[in-house]
Amino acid sequence: QYSLSDDTNFPLDKKQYKAVTTTEGPLLILAGAGSGKTRVLTARTAYMIAKKDIPAKSIMLVTFTAKAAAEMKERINHFPMLTRQDVQDVVIGTFHSLFYKIILHHDSVRWGSSRLLKFEWQRDRIMKEIAREKDLDEKEFAFDAAMQQISYWKNTLTSPESIKPADEWEETVSYLYKRYEEEKQQHGYFDFDDMLYGCYELLKNNPDLVARYQRRFHYFLIDEFQDINTVQYEIIRLLSSHTNNLCIVGDDDQSIYAFRGSDPTFILEFDQHYPDAKIITLSENYRSSHRIVSAANNVIRLNKKRRAKKMKAQYDSDKTPLFFFPYDEEEEATMIVQDIKERIEKGANPSDFAILYRTNTASRALFERLTQSSLPFIIEQDAESFYERRMIKSLLAFLRLSVNDNDEQALQHLLVSLFLKQSALQDVKALSILEDCSYIEALGKLTNVQSFQQRKLKKLVPLFKGLHKLSPAVAIEKIEKDMGFSDFVKKRGNEGNVMDKGSDDIRDFKVVARKFTTIKQLLDHVDDMIAKNKEMKKLSKQYKQAISLLTIHRSKGLEYKHVYLLSMVDGSLPHDYALESLRNGDHAPLEEERRLCYVAMTRAQETLYISIPQMRRGRTTYSSRFLQSLQ
Ligand code: ATP
Ligand code: MG
Repeated sequence: QYSLSDDTNFPLDKKQYKAVTTTEGPLLILAGAGSGKTRVLTARTAYMIAKKDIPAKSIMLVTFTAKAAAEMKERINHFPMLTRQDVQDVVIGTFHSLFYKIILHHDSVRWGSSRLLKFEWQRDRIMKEIAREKDLDEKEFAFDAAMQQISYWKNTLTSPESIKPADEWEETVSYLYKRYEEEKQQHGYFDFDDMLYGCYELLKNNPDLVARYQRRFHYFLIDEFQDINTVQYEIIRLLSSHTNNLCIVGDDDQSIYAFRGSDPTFILEFDQHYPDAKIITLSENYRSSHRIVSAANNVIRLNKKRRAKKMKAQYDSDKTPLFFFPYDEEEEATMIVQDIKERIEKGANPSDFAILYRTNTASRALFERLTQSSLPFIIEQDAESFYERRMIKSLLAFLRLSVNDNDEQALQHLLVSLFLKQSALQDVKALSILEDCSYIEALGKLTNVQSFQQRKLKKLVPLFKGLHKLSPAVAIEKIEKDMGFSDFVKKRGNEGNVMDKGSDDIRDFKVVARKFTTIKQLLDHVDDMIAKNKEMKKLSKQYKQAISLLTIHRSKGLEYKHVYLLSMVDGSLPHDYALESLRNGDHAPLEEERRLCYVAMTRAQETLYISIPQMRRGRTTYSSRFLQSLQ
């Protein structure tokens, strides 16, 4: 056993110790999950300060999520050999937060007065405004995919001018991209991608500024390097080129952000860019029971594009992964909540538990069940809650208007989902007074709209006739059919991201709807859940101990004693989109899904529960193909 000093209770194995004490020059630590990579980074920071007298101020430590950054700070805080001042002086943050500070500091006029487009719907609104210039049909055009493509271009430093569109779709999206950039500039907006891109531009055009940062920072340590993208990589290269004291750690098997331009070749080819780089591999897993480690290894082994790694579990426990076979997602939620409850009664802490899922939508049933159980829980998400999601909100607007013709808020949502300008609200209201008719009838009479909108508006009056008398499930079917909702399913685009897509949401909404006989009952339930969700958000800030609900993407780098993996069925994990790509001969998305599965499984320390519902979103399921390799 190695240790940093006699007084720390912080064991390191031989290779870890080597990594900690190799402080100069480029260093690559490539190793599997739970091998202590993050631990090495924190220990290395402490070692540099306490043993090598390197000023804490000259060290920059970068991670991917705010939660991981906070956790790192916490870990560093625990080294007795560091002073409080040292801990404060080390610069720790996410790429976004650190780079945003740089641009804000040096161009405060522009960035200080600009507003961040924080939510997807804000960016959506701008995009759709622009789309009107091209007369794009909302029904036909894959906006989410377009937004993602734009983000991808931006993160790979591809300017609108430099794009050579491969087809008509790309041509349209590159136009949207160009206009989106102009709109943001003009109205003083910026988005998350601009934080990175803006920083890159600033540094690239100001060698003096780079020199100033180089005088300040001499050591760079970066976690989760497998998910770095071009713009992040280039900024780090600029900042560190004077010393090349660049220590990067990562695991190519955990690269799960391809849709945002992450590129594992940066880690795999690190020694080509830095020929004098030292490479250290770690091969002991200190996190999970050996059955969990070998199950995860058996899954990831089947990927073709990877660097094979040895991984041996240190944790002596015979706990195998456990399987649940609930009937559907409702029973799945019930079983999991019941299991957690029993364990808490036997003395477990709520914060020992995490429930992981592939997409945000999946948390809907769990949220409802946990709310009833009064167990403390936190949902980690930046997306909207289920009933506030775009498609669901649109459907709800129809349902609300069917039972209450005067619901102005619902009318407003309806206009958005029909792709009408905000000003149409006044027109509709005026028209309904003028002609003494309902909002819906007034909508049918609107004239200054585009032809595809006209076609839709004409269908409204017949649709709403008798709609309120139908059962909610039947009403939704009818709205879907008449208004062409199901066509929202994307014609093109990558669904392999943390954003959910509408069709999946709608199917889940129908599962809820089937539980009620009248639309009114369904709406009451929805309102109740929306209120509870707000309450939960407020409450969760006070919790010190809570069950975590999060997407697999967000769970990266974290660990929990007990992990529940939801809906391990084909179509969920692997996601439908990957299966479709596979049918078209593209294996890459399936390999990314397999990495997601690997990340999810390796979060568990003691117990890993895998849930395989027989029905999901109202359809019969097949258990995930990833499970076949477990036997
Ligand atoms: P991931 O790839 O999931 O990010 P990681 O490689 O960063 O994992 P860590 O989170 O640093 O792994 O470590 C996993 C767990 O193992 C942590 O609880 C850590 O404290 C523990 N650990 C790491 N090294 C040792 C060691 N030498 N002795 C005891 N425990 C260790
Ligand atoms: Mg880690």
